[in-house]
Amino acid sequence: MNDIKVAVLGSEGVGKSALIVRFLTRRFIGEYASSSECIYRKRLSIDGRQLNLELYDPCSQAKPSIVHLIRELHLGATKRDVDSVVFLVGNKQDLCHVREVSREEGQQLAAEGKCQFYELSAAEHYQEVALMFSKVVRNASLN
Ligand code: GDP
Repeated sequence: MNDIKVAVLGSEGVGKSALIVRFLTRRFIGEYASSSECIYRKRLSIDGRQLNLELYDPCSQAKPSIVHLIRELHLGATKRDVDSVVFLVGNKQDLCHVREVSREEGQQLAAEGKCQFYELSAAEHYQEVALMFSKVVRNASLN
């Protein structure tokens, strides 16, 4: 059985925990207070294959630049000869009237980092959240 490890990274408050909890429980948790890192485990069946999924939520206070993060991830994977798949996700699409990063900027960054780009909302679209995580798992399991 394959083990797939997924780290959900980004600045505090962008909705990392909300996305994970939405995927695992189908529910949007408005306020999710957790000050320590969490690892969630789920067994999945994708394309008839059984997979063990580990979702890592760092719950950190750090504010890494997402540009820096993507470059580091690719560099780290290359150095360690690890197969990795990177998805760039813009959350809170329901708040697009106050967006700070344009879709074009996100697409450009994803193209530079050779990763897939998604915009979605943990608050509104369970199906899109589930689809995005399923694609992450499917791509990772093909590596
Ligand atoms: P984290 O620090 O990245 O794990 O962020 P949280 O998951 O704790 O979310 C931070 C805040 O953003 C919380 O108040 C969430 O309810 C809110 N939030 C998360 N996702 C969404 C979303 O898609 N839409 C809206 N409107 N709020 C969201």
